[in-house]
Amino acid sequence: MPELPEVETICRNIAVCTGARLIDVDLRRPDMIRQADYDVHDLIGLDLCAVRRRGKYLHLCWEDDHHLIFHLGMSGRFYKQERALAITEDHVHLVMDLDTEERLLYLDPRRFGGIWLLSSPGQLFARLGVEPLSEDFTAEYLQHVCRKRKTAIKNLLLNQQLIAGIGNIYADEALFGAGLRPDRPAGELSGQEIGRLQAAIVEVLRRSIENHGTSFRDYRDGLNQQGENQFYLAVYGREGKACRCCGQDINKMVLGGRGTHYCPQCQV
Ligand SMILES: [Zn+2]
Repeated sequence: MPELPEVETICRNIAVCTGARLIDVDLRRPDMIRQADYDVHDLIGLDLCAVRRRGKYLHLCWEDDHHLIFHLGMSGRFYKQERALAITEDHVHLVMDLDTEERLLYLDPRRFGGIWLLSSPGQLFARLGVEPLSEDFTAEYLQHVCRKRKTAIKNLLLNQQLIAGIGNIYADEALFGAGLRPDRPAGELSGQEIGRLQAAIVEVLRRSIENHGTSFRDYRDGLNQQGENQFYLAVYGREGKACRCCGQDINKMVLGGRGTHYCPQCQV
């Protein structure tokens, strides 16, 4: 599932299209629209003003407050290609032709994602928590949201209303980086442990962005290419393999219904 680093990578790939004008749009699956304040064809003739990310959402800002927002769900992709090239992928739900000889495509085989056509993104984004790569994400903030919570720290990290953009991969990786077992109750972590965790979250997200995201199964970047971060994962997807630090087998448990990977020796 695309998480913050994957959507950020796509965002940076697509941002080079800023300033382009939309000349045609083909909505092939209208049922992917989750909310519409305007008709998708209203975008024709408008310029792309900015490409942003909020949590796991990709946000294209067009002229006159036309906000076009995508969630990639479990298997979604958003990428650009030359208009002259044939569309070879299946499950393409939206095609947008630009006046730059380029074309933007959104596809999602499993259709857990969605498209929002909003006059203001405020309502959709209001329920999202702090951005973990912003200066608002401090050890003090993390300590504040952990306080008195009995929930496992892994599950707290997945709560988008507290911290936006972390999913299963980076929660597991950050907890390994901090040396913390994923099932520790959030409220019982010490100030020192919280500080390590905050730093580890920032580090694993930044490193994955540098590696253009993790292509475990479906994810491709904004150029429809695989990322490389899967080669650097410490625990996620590595059950039964040797820990890169201590050599112990990486274990897997189910926490909050999610497969959770950890080293029984390095994480306490
Ligand atoms: Zn280990």
